[in-house]
Amino acid sequence: MHEMSVALSVVDQVERAAQARGVPGVRQVRLEIGELAGVVPDALGFCFGLACAGTVLEGAELTTRSVPGRASCAPCGRTWDTGMPPDMVCAGCGAGATELLAGRELRITEVHWADRPGPTAHPRAPHPEEL
Ligand SMILES: [Zn+2]
Repeated sequence: MHEMSVALSVVDQVERAAQARGVPGVRQVRLEIGELAGVVPDALGFCFGLACAGTVLEGAELTTRSVPGRASCAPCGRTWDTGMPPDMVCAGCGAGATELLAGRELRITEVHWADRPGPTAHPRAPHPEEL
């Protein structure tokens, strides 16, 4: 499950940054996802929720921005949107030796820190009298 490993890696990076800054919580994480990165944003959002459980990111919101695939042709210099599945053959000269300019991105662009942990980050142990 590709999305799960991506989610775990994002959580891991943000968690380390949070520790380095000594912040107690995370409100929002923004990601840029290339159209050709092979990541389904909805599936990633679901996995992100699971990956956040029990970490400083618990309760954090994930927002994603899709980056369209762009290719360029070395022989004629034409550039175009690849679409998905990607069209990697130049419509100008028919060359298949194209270079991918964008579309494989998978990066954290912004993290909004919170000044306290998420609502469920530290569940309160039930008081004996409530049991
Ligand atoms: Zn061309």
